[in-house]
Amino acid sequence: MGAKKSGRRASGTAVPLSEELARMSGTQNVVSEGKRLEEYSEDMAGFRATPAVVVRPGSEEEVRKIVALAGRRRLPIVPRGAGSSLTGASVSKGAIILDMRRMDAVVKVDTVNWYVRAQAGITLEDLNKRLEKEGFFFPPDPASSSICTVGGAIAEGSGGLRCVKYGTVKDWVLSLRLVLPNGKAANFGEPLAKNRAGFDLVHLVVGSEGTLGVVTEACLKIIPIPGTQPKRLLLTFDDWRSASDAICQLRASKIMPHMFEFLDRETIQALNKNLGTSEDEAEATLIVDIEEPSLGAAMEIFKRNGPSKVVMAKDAKEAEAFYQIRSMAYLAIRGLGKAVQVEDIVVPIDRLGEYMMKVKETASKHGLRILVNGHAGDGNVHPVILYDEDDKRSRAAAFRAFEEICRYGISIGGSITGEHGVGTQKVKLLREQMQAHEGEEALRLMKEIKRIFDPKGIMNPGKYVEAA
Ligand SMILES: Cc1cc2nc3c(=O)[nH]c(=O)nc-3n(C[C@H](O)[C@H](O)[C@H](O)COP(=O)(O)OP(=O)(O)OC[C@H]3O[C@@H](n4cnc5c(N)ncnc54)[C@H](O)[C@@H]3O)c2cc1C
Repeated sequence: MGAKKSGRRASGTAVPLSEELARMSGTQNVVSEGKRLEEYSEDMAGFRATPAVVVRPGSEEEVRKIVALAGRRRLPIVPRGAGSSLTGASVSKGAIILDMRRMDAVVKVDTVNWYVRAQAGITLEDLNKRLEKEGFFFPPDPASSSICTVGGAIAEGSGGLRCVKYGTVKDWVLSLRLVLPNGKAANFGEPLAKNRAGFDLVHLVVGSEGTLGVVTEACLKIIPIPGTQPKRLLLTFDDWRSASDAICQLRASKIMPHMFEFLDRETIQALNKNLGTSEDEAEATLIVDIEEPSLGAAMEIFKRNGPSKVVMAKDAKEAEAFYQIRSMAYLAIRGLGKAVQVEDIVVPIDRLGEYMMKVKETASKHGLRILVNGHAGDGNVHPVILYDEDDKRSRAAAFRAFEEICRYGISIGGSITGEHGVGTQKVKLLREQMQAHEGEEALRLMKEIKRIFDPKGIMNPGKYVEAA
């Protein structure tokens, strides 16, 4: 017993880390070598770092013990869901990776107070399948919903296709349980429609990228599935100016789409090539969901801006096919077999057309291909820079292009991230944005907050705010 507590054997030698973790979570839930460890060495944008060990806890109690162990040994520890983030946030060299996906229970669906209490490891898709049975849904829908977890989506403050109407994950978290870096569990917030008791620590954790603690459970707001579905349209335009004029005029006329997405020609080409679609390869494609009463006015605006095609989905199957065009875009691009640098810049919506043209200019200046898709209704642009990993010059050009398009975004009042976060990828640019937008004091306070939560610096260290 004494040996277990102190992490030393009776002989005085240290118990190996994986052995100590196996005592807490079972041997079958510890991975310390081989191909399975390799799987945890990469995120879905290809950021790589090999951890020391992976452990898959089955309860909050186990999480507490594991975090306390990391504290005692002063080892880096990184909570992880599906590893689908795109910024290096979920990989860390020599760390204990805490794979949260065994903790995937829906604890309670409250159909009067309209919230769901769920463990952090459940995927958003499984959560919504469970809610559907009660006639409810959780609106935030990253394109990775089939794999990404509640904990990962909270820690990333994820967005998605329906944000334009429903907001991002941050708008839907009422309360959560967090295992702090000292191994204690804390309740933040209340599962209530209103709560003004104290500072809003819930929203400090949302978007904290696993640097403040481990989310084990959360109460998320839910709403009834709407009785009528909006109409889904697919439109194409021959130039970005017309497409962006249509986007701005729709907003100026106070029409609120449920979803408002865009893709460029090269992304459609990638979809046609790799996923067997046969969409028109127009300069700009928009996919938009509009409620029936606003449909006539919206159509008028779109037609005024000279679209080359306007199609309204004739049934649910076709509407789903339009949705898939957008949600499969990243996978289609990955299918081109090139290394990618995935971007996530937010610009004021009235500067979207200008920004698209800047991205294309930057691509040709550096002799690169930059494919672009994104959320028109949020001004959230996802340029995907393709480059050749084995060619030093191509790598350098991609990096320069990445910095230039981020800096241009900052210069027109935008942000370097709307939903993917900072991780290790955008540390320098986070600092630049804060400096450019008078956020230096805010950044100083953020660093202090990190130190208060994690004085030993063990929780997903060397990234995000701490590193900026
Ligand atoms: C094809 C594809 C499409 C995508 N589309 C979108 C999109 O539309 N919108 C969007 O916002 N993002 C999108 N993403 C990015 C990514 O899927 C989201 O950020 C997602 O929410 C991450 O969830 P995850 O479970 O995979 O977290 P991980 O990648 O495992 O972790 C992400 C971060 O969260 C932390 N973390 C994970 N679990 C916990 C926990 N329980 N407690 C504390 N911290 C934790 C990790 O330490 C890490 O910092 C996409 C990614 C891919 C590959």
